[in-house]
Amino acid sequence: MTRTKIVAGNWKLHKLYHEGIDLAEEICSSMAAGIRTRSGEIPKVVLAPPYHLLNAVAGITAGVTGVYTAAQNAAAEISGAFTGEVSAQMIASAGAGYVIIGHSERRTLFGEDDAVLSRKLVLSLEAGLIPIYCIGEVLAQRLANAHFEVVLQQLKSGVFHLEEEAVARIVIAYEPVWAIGTGHTATPDQAEEMHAFIRRCFAERYHQAVADNLTILYGGSCKPDNAAELFSQPDVDGGLIGGASLKAADFLAIVKSV
Ligand code: PEP
Repeated sequence: MTRTKIVAGNWKLHKLYHEGIDLAEEICSSMAAGIRTRSGEIPKVVLAPPYHLLNAVAGITAGVTGVYTAAQNAAAEISGAFTGEVSAQMIASAGAGYVIIGHSERRTLFGEDDAVLSRKLVLSLEAGLIPIYCIGEVLAQRLANAHFEVVLQQLKSGVFHLEEEAVARIVIAYEPVWAIGTGHTATPDQAEEMHAFIRRCFAERYHQAVADNLTILYGGSCKPDNAAELFSQPDVDGGLIGGASLKAADFLAIVKSV
């Protein structure tokens, strides 16, 4: 995948079935009516509903240029006696093209470590999905000035085992955990500094072309009023949006500010 501007909406544990359909339809009808980025391009938009909406939202996004569907998680197994799990192949068979892997809520609330996440990453790629792989430090790590080291370690343990051909098919989301759902956004300078660092890490592990082609999203209290400044940073290729993706007007305003 070449480097692209993407705005992805992570609906988390929100939206009953009919509410999710309404939201997806509203976003898709605006996109179909010709929403453009500030530079006049059709933005790439990814909607990540909970599982009960996956197939229906995939059906709605299927007919709209630039809009795709993602799952919020995938199992670390292919099939078997794993009650409650949904595999990457099942996600792909439901019509989704993307999957979020390693969101900080999965890491902290569900105890998913880099080893589990790297397996999910591999299985997602094998299923033909594009993983949006999330990394980011917690507040104590930033205050201790350990954020670069933490992010590098997450890449080394979770991602850098991939061959170059596989890395070309992933998206990275830098999500400082202290900014997720807190209203405390990283400043554009803080986001740019980390995104540039992540790109350098890929250049060092693989080579410059891999780094140049990598799409790196920012996530963490991104809203209509701060998105344009964050997205105008040279290494910020769009956003992974939580709270502000739940209202079509807010989400579309963010999409337009790419
Ligand atoms: C997220 O959940 O990925 C996220 C960035 O949430 P919020 O935008 O609400 O901070």
